[in-house]
Amino acid sequence: MELNITCIPGDGIGPEIVAQAKKVLSRVCEKNGHTVKYTDILMGGASIDVHGVPLTDEAIAVAKSADAVLMGSIGGDTTTSPWYKLPPEKRPEAGLLGIRKALNLFANLRPAYLYDELSAACPLKEEICGKGFDMLIMRELTGGLYFGERKTYEENGLRTAVDTLIYNENEIRRIAVKAFDIARKRRNKVTSVDKANVLDSSRLWRKVVCEVAEDYPDVTLEHMLVDNCAMQLVKNPGQFDVILTENMFGDILSDEASMVTGSIGMLSSASLNDTKFGLYEPSHGSAPDIAGKDIANPIATILSAAMMLRYTFDLDKEAETIEKAVKQVLKDGYRTGDICSEGCENVGCSRMGDLICERI
Ligand code: NAD
Repeated sequence: MELNITCIPGDGIGPEIVAQAKKVLSRVCEKNGHTVKYTDILMGGASIDVHGVPLTDEAIAVAKSADAVLMGSIGGDTTTSPWYKLPPEKRPEAGLLGIRKALNLFANLRPAYLYDELSAACPLKEEICGKGFDMLIMRELTGGLYFGERKTYEENGLRTAVDTLIYNENEIRRIAVKAFDIARKRRNKVTSVDKANVLDSSRLWRKVVCEVAEDYPDVTLEHMLVDNCAMQLVKNPGQFDVILTENMFGDILSDEASMVTGSIGMLSSASLNDTKFGLYEPSHGSAPDIAGKDIANPIATILSAAMMLRYTFDLDKEAETIEKAVKQVLKDGYRTGDICSEGCENVGCSRMGDLICERI
């Protein structure tokens, strides 16, 4: 197979971690008879420095012509970087919002997985996380409260504000289909999270998800209220496979799920549209405090590349090869500084990339 990938190294540690992900991706492709072509584009601060804007139309066109986008991270130190003296629409983050919009990326996926070797970093008690957990939060990304009409006004002398939570059935159906499709690649369970005891939008959400479920008799569907889900994530995280939810609930729950893994440098993510196209990136930021030192943890980006193989290219076996190599490196006692503990060998970013390649 030929893989045509656009890369956005970005800012801060971005170029360092993307270089490692490319190295690992090339290795697994070479071993399995695939060819991979990378085209780099600028986005965020790096694009501001060259073009004066965080994302150009040319860069969008390059991304659109690829099968998938692999991104590092964008942005700088928000208190000292000159990028943050610019108006909001010219700052690095505007590039990210712009590309998500241009590529119609409506489904955000964030896995939360507890590695045995890193369980000491998990803030939950042993009896709760002892059996481990492996879940994926699927968050709707382009609708709901964050995109509805909003205004602030004065009524009877009182400052008043309103936000609108709106979803139509098509927006719900397309992300539900994604969630069920992805559950089939995992453990065949979807937990749909809503607030159907209060909100009309949630009642429609639940109805449409049930309709979609009829086409997936092999996938177990359960519904859970969002407040209960927030509790269950810290009480019994092992019960979840795919959690499907709307934009704001997903925003909050995906951060909660990340925190229970305890290691930000390990968390991958993907944003998909209704084709096989996706943008893959680590969940963390550009870590300007450690940029250029070759000490960043590249694993979140490497695991994002594995997600790309699985969800854009349906190369499940190759994705698993990368995930297994990551597990093996941890088992062999190698760690970057952020996850290092006593008895382990502290290695830099590029050495971690090499060690993972050696296990492929
Ligand atoms: P951050 O995630 O960059 O860093 C938080 C802390 O975690 C820092 O101490 C950092 O050194 C550490 N860290 C993060 N990733 C690491 C890794 N791979 N290995 C080792 N340590 C790591 O969050 P922040 O400091 O709040 O944000 C920095 C910049 O990143 C800001 O400009 C912010 O807007 C941007 N940001 C970008 C994205 C994105 O591109 N999608 C996401 C979040 C933040």
